[in-house]
Amino acid sequence: MNLVIFGPPGAGKGTQSNNIINNFDLKQVSTGDLLRNEIKIQTDLGKKIESIMNNGKLVSDDIVNTLIGKIISNPKNLNKLIFDGYPRTISQVYSLEKLLKEFNQKISIVFSLNVDKDIVSKRANGRVVCTRCFRIFNVYLNPPNSKNHKCEKKYLEKRTDDNSKTILNRYKTYVSKTKPILDYYSKKGILHNIDGSQKIDEIYHEIKGILKNIRDWHYVYFLYKFLEKI
Ligand code: AMP
Repeated sequence: MNLVIFGPPGAGKGTQSNNIINNFDLKQVSTGDLLRNEIKIQTDLGKKIESIMNNGKLVSDDIVNTLIGKIISNPKNLNKLIFDGYPRTISQVYSLEKLLKEFNQKISIVFSLNVDKDIVSKRANGRVVCTRCFRIFNVYLNPPNSKNHKCEKKYLEKRTDDNSKTILNRYKTYVSKTKPILDYYSKKGILHNIDGSQKIDEIYHEIKGILKNIRDWHYVYFLYKFLEKI
């Protein structure tokens, strides 16, 4: 099954995607990570998008749709993707739909992690990411220590777009461009709203329950189809 995780910056999309991949046979695809990698290895694309990202604006639909197209077309990813930070505009929604259809797939479930502006600011301002194990921490709310993080401290980095001004821009962009597309998934009946202000474990507990339910139904469905044939 493929799923999408929505939420403003700092809502916990990356953290929860990590929790999910540790327990389900799924892979996370974060357009933010893919784009940051382009900047890190200084590709032409990276140079083009750096200032856009540092201003909290959205990179063009064509760029992200192309990146995502390469991932969906890889047979190893068939029905295994968690889309984190994509789609972010209605045009990306349609492009994703078209791409998945082309490869005989669909989105089965959408999670929206709902948090208010104050939480966004606190979470994103305190975020540090390990560049080695990719775990996400928060210096105020979930600080890295010897128990929860085994890599050396030098690998911990703050994202350049996690500063007060850019966070506010990213939040505004989320509200104006991304939030409206939740309606689309709500009408399809696959949207699950989650209170993202809860503790990490509480949020994951809710997500896990929903995913297990859907997985069980998928098994029952396939078993039924199988039995029908014999
Ligand atoms: P994220 O890591 O998801 O917070 O994304 C960081 C930044 O990458 C965003 O503020 C945008 O500038 C850019 N970005 C990530 N995903 C997308 C997307 N689907 N469409 C456009 N821009 C994106």
